[in-house]
Amino acid sequence: MSYTISRRDLVSAAGIAAGAAAAAGLAGGSAAYAATSEKSSAASGAADGSAALTYADTVAWNYEVDVLIVGLGGAGAAAAITAAQQGARTLVVEKAPEGLDGGNTKFCSQRFLRTEEADRDKMVEYMKQVRGLYTEDMSDEVIDYLVDGYTRTAAWYESVGGYVDSPKVDPEFPDFVNSDIVVKNWTADDYQGAFWPTMLRNIEQLQQDGKIEVWHNSPAVRLIQDPVSRTVLGAVVDKDGDEQLSIRATHGVLLACGGFEANNQMVQDYVDMPKCVPLGTQYNTGDGIKMAQAVGADLWHMSATSGPFFEFQDPDTKVCYRQLLGTLSYSTLKDVAAIVVGADGTRFMPETVGLKHGHILFHGLWIRVPSSYPSYVVFDEAARTTKPFYRVWSQGMEDEIAKGWITKADTLEDLADAIGVPSDNLAQQVQDYNGYCDAGEDPLGRPAEYLFPFGSGPYYAFPITPCFINTQGGPVRNTSCQVLDTNREPIPGLFSAGEIGSFYSSLYQGAGNVAECIMTGIDSITNMMKQTTEAAPLEFAAAGEAQQYQPEAYAAPEYELGDGRYLGTGDGMGVITARVTMDGDKIAQVEVLNGSETPGIGSIAIAEVPQAIVDAQSTDVDTVAGATRSSDGIIAAVKDAVAQAK
Ligand SMILES: Cc1cc2nc3c(=O)[nH]c(=O)nc-3n(C[C@H](O)[C@H](O)[C@H](O)COP(=O)(O)OP(=O)(O)OC[C@H]3O[C@@H](n4cnc5c(N)ncnc54)[C@H](O)[C@@H]3O)c2cc1C
Repeated sequence: MSYTISRRDLVSAAGIAAGAAAAAGLAGGSAAYAATSEKSSAASGAADGSAALTYADTVAWNYEVDVLIVGLGGAGAAAAITAAQQGARTLVVEKAPEGLDGGNTKFCSQRFLRTEEADRDKMVEYMKQVRGLYTEDMSDEVIDYLVDGYTRTAAWYESVGGYVDSPKVDPEFPDFVNSDIVVKNWTADDYQGAFWPTMLRNIEQLQQDGKIEVWHNSPAVRLIQDPVSRTVLGAVVDKDGDEQLSIRATHGVLLACGGFEANNQMVQDYVDMPKCVPLGTQYNTGDGIKMAQAVGADLWHMSATSGPFFEFQDPDTKVCYRQLLGTLSYSTLKDVAAIVVGADGTRFMPETVGLKHGHILFHGLWIRVPSSYPSYVVFDEAARTTKPFYRVWSQGMEDEIAKGWITKADTLEDLADAIGVPSDNLAQQVQDYNGYCDAGEDPLGRPAEYLFPFGSGPYYAFPITPCFINTQGGPVRNTSCQVLDTNREPIPGLFSAGEIGSFYSSLYQGAGNVAECIMTGIDSITNMMKQTTEAAPLEFAAAGEAQQYQPEAYAAPEYELGDGRYLGTGDGMGVITARVTMDGDKIAQVEVLNGSETPGIGSIAIAEVPQAIVDAQSTDVDTVAGATRSSDGIIAAVKDAVAQAK
């Protein structure tokens, strides 16, 4: 498109009509959006017909569309197709340059869940097992929504030219009830009709037909929210790095900009995997999550990830291959004497476990696999010559040894020294492992058929790094694809689709993400088009002088004293106040009047210690086990009061 605009052409709040005429002239050729030529059609007026000023009137809008879609991956593409079908003026903004769009969707295996209508209820039961303990986030309503979505995916995909003659049963958890009906859409053998290329073909056609507009190299950087109604009215987009444009979206903004895989800080903060490397796009840096936070969104299951896996990272390209752990179909580890050791030179996981998107069964509970950093694959000479660990590596892995990617040494001790792990540990670990091979039983759970003992040297090692497919956390969304605030109420005008704030909360059934992209991409737009984003009239409070702050006088609690009654204080969990009534030299009564003792613990001391003091006529009494601090506090308070009596 022929697009040019400079900052001096921007429409100002004071002169929207005049400035916009110039902008309209500059917008030339755009079919999908209109430069704002008059006050936003969604701007509200006062009840009496006069035009009440709204926040929207104060923004220098550059363009107005019906729907602004942030991110061109699977969810953004499904949404854009739907928006075009519904006749919406649609602008898609994508952070990556042209050709590098597609996000994780482009890197993915292109499979999505599809469920036959007849299998719907069985699939619901299966998914309830997948959600595990996350019953709040993956509620029954959410599971119903997801499974209904799975029944729609194949037909929709076929309707946009996708390849659907490839259903394949492929449950992530074969032991779960009804796993035999978990079906994925697979790609054709020659990869034709794969999901992302199909989306891309549709997007290109819609652009050619003038039905949608796509701006590459144009990240959304901020949502524009009406401070009165809290409605999201649009967003600021950094177009080509040289203009920040304010886009008015009269039906709403859709966040379809993926997770935070490529944001190291967020991965550290939320996932506690400081060195984890994304296997997909480098552009998903959690922008949408931060933008949603800034307008009051709540976040959910930020720790949910598909991964880690453990793979070799090419030191030159920084790309992690994906064939070693997590997928056993190719993995050489299972067929040879090769173990994975952590920074201390010992094993930390059963190498051939077949990770469930990074999860293992731990004493009956599915957890994310613990990892060590750095960690290494260690193997013997026979393993080296069996087959390369990665398809792209040379036969016998001679090239990789020559490049220094694989370290070689005659003894295990020398190998340990060379890679920097404790040599005693590594040698002992291999000796122990060989014992497990002889016994046919591995305490870490590597199956007997995959236990091959180490033979003679030389020995080899190469580093592997934890890496992951995608994050599932983000802003909370409901089954209408609205983003929710911290009170779990919809933020008007803000929707989300795809892996940003995905419904998958912990365990994950493979091919669920792309299915979710399809259903949330369609539904977000459909729901968005049922409403408009209106700004509320601005309210101005009458100017007045603020009252000077005067702290209220603190009234200390008053207790009745006299007639032999004395107050004392002692330190328990907080400050304990006790009133002691003396009858001559006798302690007649002890009352605990206040304190911060813990119900169920300190309260036991309050029930028992005062009476014990009266019975013993002494403060030299036993403390209550488990409530020592409270007991001591009561005793100290009584001593304090008795001292005053004297
Ligand atoms: C190796 C691999 C294999 C996988 N295999 C499968 C599979 O077979 N089946 C399955 O269901 N899932 C699979 N997944 C997961 C799946 O690919 C993703 O969860 C899904 O594709 C995410 O789609 P999305 O549209 O939500 O995000 P993405 O496809 O990641 O798209 C997000 C887009 O937003 C853009 N963006 C980011 N920030 C901004 C911004 N500020 N402004 C504008 N644009 C922005 C990004 O550049 C990106 O293009 C796999 C993932 C990987 C990495």
